Amino acid sequence: MSDLHCPACGASKIRLAHRRSLSDILLGGLTIYPFRCQLCADRFRTFLGRRTPNPRRSFERVEVSFPVWFKPRRSTYPDEMGQEGVIENLSIRGCRIRSTTPVAIGSRLELEFQHSNDSFPITIEEAVVRSSVNGAIGLRFTQLRRSDERRIRQLIDVWLLELLPSSR
Ligand SMILES: [Zn+2]
Repeated sequence: MSDLHCPACGASKIRLAHRRSLSDILLGGLTIYPFRCQLCADRFRTFLGRRTPNPRRSFERVEVSFPVWFKPRRSTYPDEMGQEGVIENLSIRGCRIRSTTPVAIGSRLELEFQHSNDSFPITIEEAVVRSSVNGAIGLRFTQLRRSDERRIRQLIDVWLLELLPSSR
């Protein structure tokens, strides 16, 4: 599978994408599947030549463990440090945080996380809470500055394996 590359950015970090439309299903019969570039999010179809299950996610999350601080978006206390947690997994589209602070589904947060001791924190301008179960908070990024997105992309590029999961 390592000969598959993203047509938009040329990266080899691609994964099968979730099949959702009728044409996805029909073309799937010919094993022409949608793929997602994990670095630039480009979605494209290509012939695979073997059947695979429909993946639940289009963006594979890499397992990480980074300290994170989060607070409500447009907090009334802009200098507030925020609540602490740990980022447990990360993709260019979202992450999961472990924290004892309760958050409401649908609420919007601003986050800041540090992926190494000698780097500036990466800021997620806005993330929406999609799930919150037993201290595991699922988030989808809705606003991200280009420079922060580029740094997350670099992290994913380093941490994500080349291979498609089904070909391991
Ligand atoms: Zn790409």
